[in-house]
Amino acid sequence: MITDFIKSLYWEFLSYFVPERQDYKIVGECKKCGKCCRNVYSAYMYSEKEFEFMKKIFPSYKRFYIKEKDENGNFVFACKYIGDDGLCTVYDKRPRLCRKYPKKKLSFYAKMPDGCGYKVVKKSFDEYLND
Ligand code: SF4
Ligand code: SF4
Repeated sequence: MITDFIKSLYWEFLSYFVPERQDYKIVGECKKCGKCCRNVYSAYMYSEKEFEFMKKIFPSYKRFYIKEKDENGNFVFACKYIGDDGLCTVYDKRPRLCRKYPKKKLSFYAKMPDGCGYKVVKKSFDEYLND
């Protein structure tokens, strides 16, 4: 478990510097519903203790709280800055991860919230060859 956690820190660190892999495309546009801010996943968070620790290392995580666990036991986080109207109440000061969303990333969950205006389109083998 501790090795998984150290790996998660390493990947989080790398995510700021490593060029993205072009695994899939994101098409569509935002409908400003705010569901993504109420249903945030982290691929590498396994316990509440780890979440508390991550908040100390990455202060921008302090805006999130654990909302629930999904059917697979993964944490689902929500942001305390999402307004009732689905808009961000700190839009000009939102962190990098929000500014870049939805973005192709090494650890991207590759699933958008139900009803989201964006869609994840996986690339075909031919598209990989043509790129
Ligand atoms: S869930 Fe999708 S459509 Fe809704 S605010 Fe987030 S990105 Fe926009
Ligand atoms: S800071 Fe704003 S954009 Fe980022 S998760 Fe919170 S409400 Fe959404």
